[in-house]
Amino acid sequence: MPETIDILFSNALVLTMDRDLTQYLPGAVAVKGDSIVAVGYEDEIKKEYSARESIDCDGKVLMPGLINAHTHVPMTLLRGLADDLRLDVWLMGYMMPVEREFVSPEFVRLGTLLACAEQIRSGITTFNDMYYFEEDVAKAAAEAGMRAVCGQTVMKFAAPDAASYEDSLAMARDFIQRWKDHPLIVPAVSPHAPYTCTAEILRATAELAKEFDVPLHTHLAETAFEVDNMRNENGMPVIPYVKKQGLLDAKLIAAHCVHVDVGEIRSLQHAGAGVAHNPSSNLKLASGFAPVMKMLETGLNVGIGTDGPASNNDLDMFEEVRLAAFIAKAVTNDPTSLPAPRALLMATRLGAQALHIGHLTGSVETGKRADLILVDVSPIHNSPSFKRGADNAYAQIVYASKSTDVSDVMVNGRWLMRDRQLLTLKEDELLIQASEVAKKIDAFLIEREQSVLSKLIALGGSLEQESFEVQVKVKITEADPIVQAMKREKSKVIRERHYREHDVYFFFDDLSQGRLRFREDDFIDDKGNVTNVRSRLTLIGQKREGAFENEVLLSRSRYLAPASHSLRFYREYFMPKSEIAIEKDRLRWLIKYKDTEFFINLDEVTEPQLGYFLEIKSRTWSRRDADHKAQLVSELLSLLGASSGEPVTEDYIDIVRAG
Ligand SMILES: [Zn+2]
Repeated sequence: MPETIDILFSNALVLTMDRDLTQYLPGAVAVKGDSIVAVGYEDEIKKEYSARESIDCDGKVLMPGLINAHTHVPMTLLRGLADDLRLDVWLMGYMMPVEREFVSPEFVRLGTLLACAEQIRSGITTFNDMYYFEEDVAKAAAEAGMRAVCGQTVMKFAAPDAASYEDSLAMARDFIQRWKDHPLIVPAVSPHAPYTCTAEILRATAELAKEFDVPLHTHLAETAFEVDNMRNENGMPVIPYVKKQGLLDAKLIAAHCVHVDVGEIRSLQHAGAGVAHNPSSNLKLASGFAPVMKMLETGLNVGIGTDGPASNNDLDMFEEVRLAAFIAKAVTNDPTSLPAPRALLMATRLGAQALHIGHLTGSVETGKRADLILVDVSPIHNSPSFKRGADNAYAQIVYASKSTDVSDVMVNGRWLMRDRQLLTLKEDELLIQASEVAKKIDAFLIEREQSVLSKLIALGGSLEQESFEVQVKVKITEADPIVQAMKREKSKVIRERHYREHDVYFFFDDLSQGRLRFREDDFIDDKGNVTNVRSRLTLIGQKREGAFENEVLLSRSRYLAPASHSLRFYREYFMPKSEIAIEKDRLRWLIKYKDTEFFINLDEVTEPQLGYFLEIKSRTWSRRDADHKAQLVSELLSLLGASSGEPVTEDYIDIVRAG
């Protein structure tokens, strides 16, 4: 008496992607409930089972659904927003500011549903995600019927869903507790990356992942820049550093690992970590070439991911698998590298293992969940078919198939697509909603791009409006008399500093935008060595606020921010019309004169050579206070013997521009 099952697939070329890469032609697969109960040759399976629904696969390839090992699915709504930029400008200049403004549970839900539609269409049955409001990703994925590992992001910055890392960690804990036994969703915690987290955050997320035995999903060693910074700041590369913070004790899923050495690959393998290789993203962002062949030879579980749709820009795993194979060949200068069966294995069983869900999915084997796809290999771009060797079928899938060749998709025994019709999602409605969101984001960016100040504010971080200053500047011929005078007035000195200042001014077409100054202060010690470097960004307005007798000026308000990015970053982000660089050597004293604090700057402008200047400055809060301080400034000028100096009312940059 044959056993009754739910669905019997027959007349297929079954690529099981099991340990022996077994194929069956004509093959059949029996599905009962959410699981595969049998796989084998058609005549044998048909004898053993009677099915409620029989599917004639018409010679198509029946294989495990593809595993997208690393992505950020809600970013479908940011696809094509900003491209051809460096990673930091793209991320900190565009993605994060837009995300701060727009990302909400509704945004995440819509973005995820769009991504699910796209992924189901391209034969993906499982994706590994990392984003904000990850519970809404989980809800939408479950609604669409997809399997997903959903990692709640934790990082040191305020995020769209959390004011602090403690908040996001609490969200992650709560999310994991409530979703831990879901049939489709594996909840996870996602510290974004070592450079966006502190050591404390990394340790806390590792503890959380271990406590609930869930995956920890993060970005590691994506760029050479990241590795250089890690070496400079912590004296070691990325993998040993995260090992120190306990990440390798968790079920680690490490996205990228582009810049890792053999020792690091070994320690990842030893820890049973999974790696997600992202060919398109690495190519598009010019991150480098991950040593995929070394990883596979070491026995690491390496999956393939699309990364977020804003850095790819699609969620097409057929494209990724092909690229993975091509890149491996080009980089090793060896066409036998990463052959088609191996590449497809990365997108299926190895990918599932990398996500620590290899027991559930990734291959067509008895006992695994029924995550299956049918691929039509008869279209013109994939004809004819050769049956001579086992590898012919893999070559067809990897080198010639397109995502549009996927006709049917099943996840957990449930149909999500039949005959290219999506069964769980309404594509038309999703597309209309997506275009409405795009219009709003466009309007936001158009407005932001109109002003240097709003672009500066969009970068986030602390930003202050400086108070007014009373100041005088005189040109002097020699520095030494001032230095001697300051020695005489030693009792007034609170603090003395020596800097070398490198200023770069950005100028814009619209003069009313003001100018932006990037300043690097090198702190110089007694021996002339640089002991510390500090960078600041200042937006300087055009307007003078007022003047006093003796060319004492009231200076303009200034917007000041710590420059946490490189000069190159700001150049690419603000795209100034022109720039001018100035260098000077500055001795700076903070003194107290008649109960008032003043800064005295003795500058030698060395690039271009403008000679020596003396500046005296004091912060001020009211007009009355300013009058009083202006008087004291004049007195100080005499005290230092500099009243005969030629008064200068312009900034150095104006002198340079005028000259
Ligand atoms: Zn990513």
